[in-house]
Amino acid sequence: MNSPLPTSHHENKQVFPVAPGVWGLKTMLVNLYFVSAPDGSWVLVDTGLYGSTDKIRKVAQSLFGHTRPRAILLTHGHFDHVGSVKELAEEWDVPVYAHPLELPYLTGMSSYPPPDPSVGGGAMAYMSFLYPKKPINIPNYIELLPTDGTVPGLPDWHWVHTPGHSAGHVSFFRESDRVLLAGDAFVTRHGESLLAVMSQKREVHGPPKYYTSDWGAARHSVEKLLELNPNVAATGHGLPMKGQELLQQLENLVRDFWTVAVPSHGRYAHQPAIADEQGVVSVPPATDNTIPKVLAAAGVVALAGVALAAYAKHNNEHKKNRARGLNRPFSHNRPLPGIPPTVPATLEEDDPHAHTNNYP
Ligand SMILES: [Zn+2]
Ligand SMILES: [Zn+2]
Repeated sequence: MNSPLPTSHHENKQVFPVAPGVWGLKTMLVNLYFVSAPDGSWVLVDTGLYGSTDKIRKVAQSLFGHTRPRAILLTHGHFDHVGSVKELAEEWDVPVYAHPLELPYLTGMSSYPPPDPSVGGGAMAYMSFLYPKKPINIPNYIELLPTDGTVPGLPDWHWVHTPGHSAGHVSFFRESDRVLLAGDAFVTRHGESLLAVMSQKREVHGPPKYYTSDWGAARHSVEKLLELNPNVAATGHGLPMKGQELLQQLENLVRDFWTVAVPSHGRYAHQPAIADEQGVVSVPPATDNTIPKVLAAAGVVALAGVALAAYAKHNNEHKKNRARGLNRPFSHNRPLPGIPPTVPATLEEDDPHAHTNNYP
């Protein structure tokens, strides 16, 4: 692909080139991506935390002038990937594409399964009980990704369903030079440690432990991505990796997934959350996740004041519009060979639709 666009000469040090026509923007905790199409149009993949709009707008302008993107694509709807989506979709007046199983969390229908602060270790996990859990609500902009795997606005890419971290998580792949945008299906830094967040070390890890609610599906997804034989992988957290180093570490992750990626204890270690196209159906009971107070406080001081508070404020302003009903035959909670048993979908002890912002 011959891209006439700049790769290095804008001032913003948080912008990094990924591949021809693909740039990443590192906001505080999370990455988002700008991807251009052969005809010079472009799309945005994910939108960072709430409050990233100005920065995204500036970088977009330095890369593409005043051209609006064709679309916003979401790998999934966790708060650190959709924080600025509403503002940007409204401002640009563009559709936001997501997988059908992610829709309940983008249209106010369902909250995500609660994060599990007891797994992963480190401030990021300990403070995860503070993360916004209410679904955002952008029903006027949301569109479903085409079922044939094509990607709106990017004719040379296709999307791959990579559930596990979330039910409707997707990754994006460009076959011609095997560039992968993997969202949080796997990440390229240790996801939970604050030190790792600050460091530049690149290393393949499983999806963030405290926020992954179906480990069987998550493993299957990483395997699927390895089968694509990616040459470059850029993820939601950490810097891009490529070549043999990437493939070797991805292979190791698939091989050792149950010991290195899956937590040995915690809410979802042995049972997944069950979700369908209406949202969360059931979650395993909470485990004893007593958080050491000192560590929790450290996490709060380190990060809470930064963007999460702003997001929470924003989040509370959302109206509680019920989304339109969907009736599609999608479900990722199918039994997989060789993985721990799942819980029946009829488990009644925890109704996520009754939840407010506070999970047990
Ligand atoms: Zn996530
Ligand atoms: Zn993330």
